[in-house]
Amino acid sequence: KRKADIAAAHEDATTTDGHRIEVVANVGGVAEAEEAVRLGGEGVGLLRSEFLFLERATAPTEQEQRAIYQDVSDALGQRPLIIRTLDVGGDKPLPYLPLPREENPFLGVRGVRLAIDRPEILRTQIRAILQVQDNSRLGMMFPMISSLDEFRSLRAVVDEETRNTGRSEPVQVGIMVEVPSAAVMAEQFAREADFFSIGTNDLTQYTLAMDRGHPKLAPLADAMSPAVLKLIGQTVEGAHAHGKWVGVCGGIASDEQAVPILVGLGVDELSVSVPALPSIKAAVRQYSMSQCREFAEKALKADSAAEVRALVPLDY
Ligand code: PEP
Ligand code: MG
Repeated sequence: KRKADIAAAHEDATTTDGHRIEVVANVGGVAEAEEAVRLGGEGVGLLRSEFLFLERATAPTEQEQRAIYQDVSDALGQRPLIIRTLDVGGDKPLPYLPLPREENPFLGVRGVRLAIDRPEILRTQIRAILQVQDNSRLGMMFPMISSLDEFRSLRAVVDEETRNTGRSEPVQVGIMVEVPSAAVMAEQFAREADFFSIGTNDLTQYTLAMDRGHPKLAPLADAMSPAVLKLIGQTVEGAHAHGKWVGVCGGIASDEQAVPILVGLGVDELSVSVPALPSIKAAVRQYSMSQCREFAEKALKADSAAEVRALVPLDY
C-alpha cells in the first residue's frame, strides 16, 4: 500500500465524486519543505517559525528571517506558504526574552499574547514575511487567537507594514483556531480574517482541559472527541458563511482515520506531517463526499472519541 501511495503522491487528493482537498505540510525549515514537495505536498500550511528563534542568544534580524522565509518559499515554487508568527511563551521560553514565571503557562502569556506584549518582535517578523517575493499564495497566521480585539490589533500592524514595505502582492492573513472561543466566534472572525487553520492539539487541550503533555492525561486528549469535532464543524460553518476557507493543521489531520470525518465536516485543507502526505492523500481518494458527510453526522452524535473511531474502518 505504501509504495502505491508514494507513486500516487503527486496526484490531487480528490474524493471519488470529485471534491478536491488541498493536502499541504507542516514544516519547520527549508529541508522539510523540500521533502514535502518530494512526497507530493501541495504547499506548506504551517511553517512553525519558532525554529528561527529558539536556541540562540539574540533575536534573528529582519534580514535573517527574510532570507529563510524566501528559501522556504523558493523550495515550494508557486505552491502556497503559510507562515505562523512566533508561538512561544509560557512553557516555551526564549533565552533573550526573560519572561516572568507563571503558575499556569498554558493559560498565560503565550502565542499572540506575547506578540502583543512585545510588539517589536512581531513587527520585525511581519516585515520579514511581507518581503517574500515570487509567491502569489503567501499567507501568515497568528497562533492562540482568543478574541477579535487581538486579531484587529495584529491586522492593523500588517496593514501598516504592508504600506511601509510597499508590498503590492496580496498576502492572506488568517488565524489559528486553537482556543475554543475562536471556534465559537468563527462567524464573527470570518468577516475579517482571510482563512482559518485549526490547531487541534491545543484546541483539544483547551476543550477537554487536559494538558497535552501530561503523562496520564495526554493519551485521553483525543481530537476525535465529539466535543472537538463540534467546534471544528462550527468553525467551518462560520467560515464558509463568508466564503473563507478552513484548514486543519493539528496532529489529527495526519491521522488516516480522521480524514473522512474532517472532510465530511467541510474542511478544505489538511496540513499534515511530511511523512504522512502520501497516506493522507490516499485516504481522501477512498471516499465520496456523501460518505464523508455521513461519517461526520454520526461522529457529531457519538458519545466519545472511542465511539467516533469505531465508526471508521481502518483497513480499506
Ligand atoms: C496545534 O496546536 O494543533 C498546532 C498545530 O500548533 P502547535 O502544535 O505548534 O502548538
Ligand atoms: Mg498550537
